[in-house]
Amino acid sequence: MKALHRLTRRNVVGGIAASATALTFPHVARAQSAARVTVIGGGFGGATCARALKHIDPKLDVTLIEPNRTFTACPFSNEVIAGLRDLAAQQFGYDRIAGEGVRVVAQMAAKIDPSARTVTLADGASLGYDRLVLSPGIDLRFDALPGYDEAASVKMPHAWKAGEQTTLLRKQLEAMDDGGVVALAVPANPSRCPPAPYERASLIAHYLTTKKPRSKVLILDAKDGFSQQRLFERAWKELYPGMIERISLSQGGRVTAVDPATNTLVTEFGDHVAQVANVIPPQKAGRIADLAGATDNTGWCPIDPVTFASKLVPDIHVIGDACLGGGIPKSASAANAQGNACAAAVANLISGKTPDMPKLTGVCYNIVAPGYAFSLAGFYAPKDSIFAEVEGGGTSPVDAPRELRAREMENARRWFTTITVDSFG
Ligand SMILES: Cc1cc2nc3c(=O)[nH]c(=O)nc-3n(C[C@H](O)[C@H](O)[C@H](O)COP(=O)(O)OP(=O)(O)OC[C@H]3O[C@@H](n4cnc5c(N)ncnc54)[C@H](O)[C@@H]3O)c2cc1C
Repeated sequence: MKALHRLTRRNVVGGIAASATALTFPHVARAQSAARVTVIGGGFGGATCARALKHIDPKLDVTLIEPNRTFTACPFSNEVIAGLRDLAAQQFGYDRIAGEGVRVVAQMAAKIDPSARTVTLADGASLGYDRLVLSPGIDLRFDALPGYDEAASVKMPHAWKAGEQTTLLRKQLEAMDDGGVVALAVPANPSRCPPAPYERASLIAHYLTTKKPRSKVLILDAKDGFSQQRLFERAWKELYPGMIERISLSQGGRVTAVDPATNTLVTEFGDHVAQVANVIPPQKAGRIADLAGATDNTGWCPIDPVTFASKLVPDIHVIGDACLGGGIPKSASAANAQGNACAAAVANLISGKTPDMPKLTGVCYNIVAPGYAFSLAGFYAPKDSIFAEVEGGGTSPVDAPRELRAREMENARRWFTTITVDSFG
């Protein structure tokens, strides 16, 4: 094991860098010092949790491990794909979090030893923890769809992790001739943000309507029904008549293989050649969760909904997309709410108090055109050892005047500002 002094100034973005050496002391010698909470993953769940831990108890020794110095957010990235927004508006740094006293380590966590309670970083250095929070988001299952691997994603982008892939899909749309077919392969649930493929299809249709009106959007779907379906279908009829075609699971829409050489998507009922193919493959929890032993045979992490404690590994908590959240859809909204609730539970456990029963709120906005959005709000609480939806939520009405859709668009923008401030400071 390499020594901890390898946590150099270069990869410690901020926070209490000098105290990194304190981590070299064995557990016994630390009996009187602050409890160490390490958070892996600086996205919506992890960044929120690290900040909240420090706010709840400034004495806690909090470390956030995240390899990227800039986080690129997925919510609103469909607007980037449609040419309505710059990717820069999606990007957030970690300086504010570091300024609040969280030690931010710009590295990948490579290994976890739950019995020794250590995390090994990509450069071989090792960090001890008292409690560990995992929020690594998703990994794409490159083994799940014949023909679709990492190399294929350069030809047929998924754009399901925002950044280069988002830009790639945007560029392909710009380069496409008018009259082309843009195909989206949509996976079954559970997956990251279930309504986002339909939001994407809508915004791509907006781009095509304005720039390449003879083109088509083809949704090849591994599901029969989807979230807010009636609202989407109503909007498509109104805004993009004849432009979006969806083939559902029972109509043979599930993509079973792809051929990147010819941009072909194979379904049980025939092949579809697309000019632009956006292939969103099945997903699983980020790999580090698997390496920690926190995933079950679904590929996701079962948790106790009161404390977010892993049901499989002691002293490890899992939040965000990686956890099996029961009725909670995998969303930034949920990851942020879980990050705050998990911080409170971990702080209580450390100080010997009983954790409160969390009640989480999630809201999801879908944008189908500039100035046209609708939403779904939900409340969730622990029930029968998972999260279940409780009363109080609701969705936008199917019949509504355009002013309401425009107001929801404004609410969506406010939501994005609020959640990114709460997550990244
Ligand atoms: C197109 C699209 C649109 C969306 N729109 C919305 C929306 O409108 N509203 C909404 O609520 N949600 C939306 N989402 C969903 C949302 O982006 C995710 O649910 C949310 O990001 C999950 O948060 P997380 O913390 O679990 O994962 P992430 O935010 O993905 O963060 C995970 C972080 O962990 C890091 N990481 C992974 N492995 C390691 C490791 N080994 N060591 C260190 N760090 C690691 C990664 O680098 C990453 O920064 C959308 C998603 C997509 C794809």
